[in-house]
Amino acid sequence: SAAEAILKLANVESAYGPIKAIRGVSLQVRPGEIATVLGANGAGKTTILKTISGIIDPRKGSVEFRGDNITALDPALIVQRGLSHVPEGREVFPLLSVRDNLLMGAYTRRDRDAVARDVEGVFGYFPILRERAAQQAGLLSGGQQQMLAISRALMAAPELILLDEPSLGLSPKLTKEIFEIVVRINRERGTTVLLVEQNANMALNAADYGYVLENGRIVMEDSCERLREKDDIKEFYLGMK
Ligand code: ATP
Repeated sequence: SAAEAILKLANVESAYGPIKAIRGVSLQVRPGEIATVLGANGAGKTTILKTISGIIDPRKGSVEFRGDNITALDPALIVQRGLSHVPEGREVFPLLSVRDNLLMGAYTRRDRDAVARDVEGVFGYFPILRERAAQQAGLLSGGQQQMLAISRALMAAPELILLDEPSLGLSPKLTKEIFEIVVRINRERGTTVLLVEQNANMALNAADYGYVLENGRIVMEDSCERLREKDDIKEFYLGMK
Protein backbone atom coordinates (compact mmCIF):
# COMPACT_ATOMS: atom_id res chain seq x y z
CA SER A 1 0.00 0.00 0.00
CA ALA A 2 0.96 3.66 -0.31
CA ALA A 3 2.21 3.89 3.27
CA GLU A 4 4.83 1.22 2.70
CA ALA A 5 6.68 2.92 -0.17
CA ILE A 6 10.35 3.79 0.44
CA LEU A 7 10.23 6.28 -2.45
CA LYS A 8 7.24 8.24 -3.55
CA LEU A 9 6.96 10.80 -6.36
CA ALA A 10 3.74 12.81 -6.53
CA ASN A 11 2.88 14.89 -9.61
CA VAL A 12 6.49 15.75 -10.33
CA GLU A 13 7.14 18.18 -13.17
CA SER A 14 10.70 19.07 -14.25
CA ALA A 15 11.79 21.24 -17.13
CA TYR A 16 14.85 22.57 -18.93
CA GLY A 17 13.93 26.17 -19.66
CA PRO A 18 10.79 25.97 -21.81
CA ILE A 19 11.09 22.20 -22.35
CA LYS A 20 8.93 20.16 -19.97
CA ALA A 21 10.82 16.89 -19.69
CA ILE A 22 8.51 15.21 -17.16
CA ARG A 23 4.88 16.20 -16.75
CA GLY A 24 3.19 15.13 -13.56
CA VAL A 25 4.98 11.88 -12.77
CA SER A 26 3.68 9.88 -9.81
CA LEU A 27 5.32 6.62 -8.86
CA GLN A 28 6.20 4.50 -5.84
CA VAL A 29 8.95 2.06 -5.02
CA ARG A 30 8.45 -0.48 -2.24
CA PRO A 31 11.28 -1.48 0.10
CA GLY A 32 13.29 -4.46 -1.16
CA GLU A 33 11.90 -4.46 -4.68
CA ILE A 34 13.45 -3.73 -8.06
CA ALA A 35 11.30 -1.19 -9.88
CA THR A 36 11.85 -0.06 -13.43
CA VAL A 37 10.86 2.86 -15.63
CA LEU A 38 10.82 1.91 -19.30
CA GLY A 39 10.79 4.44 -22.07
CA ALA A 40 12.28 5.40 -25.40
CA ASN A 41 15.22 7.73 -25.86
CA GLY A 42 14.15 11.18 -24.65
CA ALA A 43 11.04 10.02 -22.77
CA GLY A 44 12.35 11.65 -19.58
CA LYS A 45 13.89 8.72 -17.69
CA THR A 46 17.16 10.44 -16.80
CA THR A 47 15.24 13.54 -15.72
CA ILE A 48 13.20 11.47 -13.25
CA LEU A 49 16.37 10.11 -11.62
CA LYS A 50 18.08 13.52 -11.53
CA THR A 51 15.00 14.99 -9.89
CA ILE A 52 14.96 12.25 -7.24
CA SER A 53 18.65 12.67 -6.40
CA GLY A 54 18.40 16.46 -6.19
CA ILE A 55 20.45 17.32 -9.29
CA ILE A 56 17.38 18.99 -10.82
CA ASP A 57 14.80 20.90 -8.77
CA PRO A 58 11.26 20.13 -9.94
CA ARG A 59 8.84 22.90 -10.90
CA LYS A 60 5.97 21.06 -9.23
CA GLY A 61 5.30 18.02 -7.12
CA SER A 62 7.18 16.23 -4.37
CA VAL A 63 9.72 13.48 -3.75
CA GLU A 64 9.49 11.51 -0.50
CA PHE A 65 12.17 9.09 0.68
CA ARG A 66 11.64 6.93 3.78
CA GLY A 67 8.75 9.15 4.77
CA ASP A 68 10.67 12.43 4.52
CA ASN A 69 10.16 15.14 1.95
CA ILE A 70 13.52 15.37 0.09
CA THR A 71 12.30 17.52 -2.79
CA ALA A 72 15.18 19.68 -4.07
CA LEU A 73 17.35 18.83 -1.06
CA ASP A 74 21.10 19.12 -1.66
CA PRO A 75 22.31 15.98 -3.53
CA ALA A 76 25.05 15.25 -0.96
CA LEU A 77 22.45 15.24 1.83
CA ILE A 78 20.26 12.88 -0.17
CA VAL A 79 23.19 10.45 -0.51
CA GLN A 80 23.73 10.66 3.26
CA ARG A 81 20.12 9.68 3.83
CA GLY A 82 20.73 6.43 1.95
CA LEU A 83 19.93 7.12 -1.68
CA SER A 84 22.73 6.67 -4.28
CA HIS A 85 22.58 7.46 -7.99
CA VAL A 86 24.54 5.61 -10.70
CA PRO A 87 24.45 8.14 -13.53
CA GLU A 88 24.05 7.47 -17.24
CA GLY A 89 27.46 7.04 -18.84
CA ARG A 90 28.98 5.89 -15.48
CA GLU A 91 31.03 9.07 -14.83
CA VAL A 92 33.83 7.39 -12.91
CA PHE A 93 36.87 9.55 -12.01
CA PRO A 94 39.14 8.50 -14.90
CA LEU A 95 42.46 9.55 -13.39
CA LEU A 96 41.85 7.98 -9.98
CA SER A 97 42.53 4.32 -9.29
CA VAL A 98 39.67 1.86 -9.05
CA ARG A 99 40.19 1.67 -5.28
CA ASP A 100 40.15 5.46 -4.88
CA ASN A 101 36.94 5.67 -6.93
CA LEU A 102 35.39 3.26 -4.44
CA LEU A 103 36.64 5.31 -1.49
CA MET A 104 35.14 8.45 -3.07
CA GLY A 105 31.78 6.69 -2.82
CA ALA A 106 32.31 6.37 0.94
CA TYR A 107 33.66 9.86 1.58
CA THR A 108 30.94 10.78 4.08
CA ARG A 109 31.51 7.65 6.19
CA ARG A 110 33.74 7.76 9.26
CA ASP A 111 34.08 4.07 10.12
CA ARG A 112 37.23 3.07 8.19
CA ASP A 113 36.93 -0.61 9.15
CA ALA A 114 33.38 -0.82 7.82
CA VAL A 115 34.46 0.96 4.62
CA ALA A 116 37.33 -1.51 4.15
CA ARG A 117 34.89 -4.40 4.63
CA ASP A 118 32.54 -2.89 2.07
CA VAL A 119 35.37 -2.57 -0.47
CA GLU A 120 35.90 -6.32 -0.02
CA GLY A 121 32.14 -6.79 -0.34
CA VAL A 122 31.94 -5.10 -3.75
CA PHE A 123 35.05 -7.01 -4.91
CA GLY A 124 33.04 -10.12 -4.05
CA TYR A 125 30.36 -9.07 -6.56
CA PHE A 126 32.84 -7.80 -9.18
CA PRO A 127 36.15 -9.77 -8.81
CA ILE A 128 37.64 -8.05 -11.87
CA LEU A 129 37.68 -4.79 -9.88
CA ARG A 130 39.93 -6.41 -7.27
CA GLU A 131 42.38 -7.36 -10.03
CA ARG A 132 42.27 -3.79 -11.36
CA ALA A 133 42.20 -2.05 -7.95
CA ALA A 134 45.42 -0.09 -8.52
CA GLN A 135 44.68 0.78 -12.16
CA GLN A 136 43.33 4.13 -13.36
CA ALA A 137 39.56 3.87 -13.78
CA GLY A 138 39.75 5.55 -17.20
CA LEU A 139 41.62 2.52 -18.51
CA LEU A 140 38.80 0.08 -17.68
CA SER A 141 36.47 -1.24 -20.40
CA GLY A 142 32.92 0.17 -20.58
CA GLY A 143 31.51 -2.84 -18.76
CA GLN A 144 34.12 -2.62 -16.02
CA GLN A 145 33.40 1.10 -15.61
CA GLN A 146 29.71 0.27 -15.20
CA MET A 147 30.66 -2.28 -12.52
CA LEU A 148 32.79 0.37 -10.81
CA ALA A 149 30.01 2.97 -10.95
CA ILE A 150 27.57 0.53 -9.32
CA SER A 151 30.19 -0.43 -6.73
CA ARG A 152 30.97 3.19 -5.94
CA ALA A 153 27.27 3.81 -5.32
CA LEU A 154 27.16 0.79 -2.99
CA MET A 155 30.07 2.21 -0.99
CA ALA A 156 27.70 4.84 0.42
CA ALA A 157 25.80 1.92 2.04
CA PRO A 158 22.52 2.96 0.38
CA GLU A 159 19.04 1.61 1.02
CA LEU A 160 18.00 2.62 -2.49
CA ILE A 161 20.08 2.85 -5.65
CA LEU A 162 19.03 4.63 -8.82
CA LEU A 163 20.48 3.01 -11.94
CA ASP A 164 20.45 5.00 -15.17
CA GLU A 165 20.59 2.75 -18.19
CA PRO A 166 23.25 0.27 -17.07
CA SER A 167 23.09 -1.51 -20.46
CA LEU A 168 24.18 1.59 -22.40
CA GLY A 169 26.95 0.70 -24.85
CA LEU A 170 27.44 -2.81 -23.46
CA SER A 171 27.29 -6.14 -25.29
CA PRO A 172 24.24 -8.35 -24.60
CA LYS A 173 26.49 -10.75 -22.69
CA LEU A 174 27.91 -8.06 -20.39
CA THR A 175 24.48 -6.51 -19.96
CA LYS A 176 23.13 -9.88 -18.80
CA GLU A 177 26.05 -10.30 -16.40
CA ILE A 178 25.53 -6.87 -14.86
CA PHE A 179 21.78 -7.36 -14.49
CA GLU A 180 22.36 -10.71 -12.78
CA ILE A 181 24.65 -9.04 -10.25
CA VAL A 182 22.18 -6.20 -9.65
CA VAL A 183 19.53 -8.84 -8.86
CA ARG A 184 21.97 -10.62 -6.51
CA ILE A 185 22.78 -7.35 -4.71
CA ASN A 186 19.05 -6.71 -4.32
CA ARG A 187 18.37 -10.22 -2.98
CA GLU A 188 21.44 -10.56 -0.75
CA ARG A 189 21.75 -7.04 0.67
CA GLY A 190 18.09 -6.08 0.46
CA THR A 191 19.05 -2.93 -1.44
CA THR A 192 16.02 -1.44 -3.18
CA VAL A 193 16.62 -0.57 -6.84
CA LEU A 194 15.01 1.88 -9.24
CA LEU A 195 16.29 1.16 -12.72
CA VAL A 196 15.57 3.16 -15.88
CA GLU A 197 16.17 1.39 -19.17
CA GLN A 198 15.58 1.44 -22.90
CA ASN A 199 16.38 -2.29 -22.88
CA ALA A 200 12.87 -3.38 -21.87
CA ASN A 201 13.63 -7.06 -22.19
CA MET A 202 16.42 -7.01 -19.61
CA ALA A 203 14.60 -4.61 -17.30
CA LEU A 204 11.32 -6.56 -17.30
CA ASN A 205 13.16 -9.77 -16.49
CA ALA A 206 15.11 -8.27 -13.61
CA ALA A 207 12.45 -6.06 -12.05
CA ASP A 208 9.36 -6.76 -9.97
CA TYR A 209 7.28 -3.72 -10.88
CA GLY A 210 7.37 -1.43 -13.90
CA TYR A 211 6.24 1.94 -15.17
CA VAL A 212 6.09 2.94 -18.83
CA LEU A 213 7.06 6.53 -19.61
CA GLU A 214 6.07 8.25 -22.85
CA ASN A 215 6.76 11.95 -23.51
CA GLY A 216 7.29 12.68 -19.84
CA ARG A 217 4.15 10.94 -18.62
CA ILE A 218 3.55 7.54 -17.01
CA VAL A 219 1.13 5.79 -19.35
CA MET A 220 1.08 2.33 -17.80
CA GLU A 221 2.16 0.54 -14.62
CA ASP A 222 1.91 -3.05 -13.44
CA SER A 223 3.91 -5.99 -12.16
CA CYS A 224 6.62 -6.88 -14.69
CA GLU A 225 5.07 -10.33 -15.01
CA ARG A 226 1.87 -8.73 -16.30
CA LEU A 227 3.61 -6.01 -18.34
CA ARG A 228 5.50 -8.69 -20.29
CA GLU A 229 2.18 -10.17 -21.42
CA LYS A 230 0.62 -6.92 -22.68
CA ASP A 231 0.32 -6.58 -26.45
CA ASP A 232 1.47 -2.93 -26.49
CA ILE A 233 4.58 -3.80 -24.51
CA LYS A 234 5.34 -6.80 -26.72
CA GLU A 235 4.96 -4.74 -29.87
CA PHE A 236 6.57 -1.43 -28.94
CA TYR A 237 9.09 -2.33 -26.25
CA LEU A 238 9.98 -5.99 -26.79
CA GLY A 239 9.95 -5.91 -30.60
CA MET A 240 7.60 -8.90 -30.88
CA LYS A 241 4.68 -9.09 -33.33
P1 ATP B 1 18.01 9.13 -22.65
O1 ATP B 1 17.90 7.71 -22.27
O2 ATP B 1 18.39 9.35 -24.06
O3 ATP B 1 18.80 9.96 -21.67
P2 ATP B 1 15.69 9.92 -21.30
O4 ATP B 1 14.42 9.15 -21.37
O5 ATP B 1 16.54 9.71 -20.14
O6 ATP B 1 16.51 9.67 -22.58
P3 ATP B 1 15.86 12.70 -20.66
O7 ATP B 1 17.34 12.70 -20.81
O8 ATP B 1 15.30 12.73 -19.32
O9 ATP B 1 15.26 11.43 -21.43
O10 ATP B 1 15.27 13.88 -21.54
C1 ATP B 1 13.89 14.23 -21.57
C2 ATP B 1 13.68 15.44 -22.48
O11 ATP B 1 14.38 16.56 -21.95
C3 ATP B 1 14.21 15.24 -23.88
O12 ATP B 1 13.32 15.89 -24.76
C4 ATP B 1 15.54 15.94 -23.88
O13 ATP B 1 15.86 16.43 -25.16
C5 ATP B 1 15.31 17.07 -22.90
N1 ATP B 1 16.55 17.44 -22.19
C6 ATP B 1 17.31 16.60 -21.43
N2 ATP B 1 18.36 17.25 -20.90
C7 ATP B 1 18.27 18.53 -21.32
C8 ATP B 1 19.05 19.72 -21.11
N3 ATP B 1 20.15 19.69 -20.33
N4 ATP B 1 18.64 20.85 -21.71
C9 ATP B 1 17.54 20.87 -22.49
N5 ATP B 1 16.77 19.80 -22.72
C10 ATP B 1 17.11 18.64 -22.15
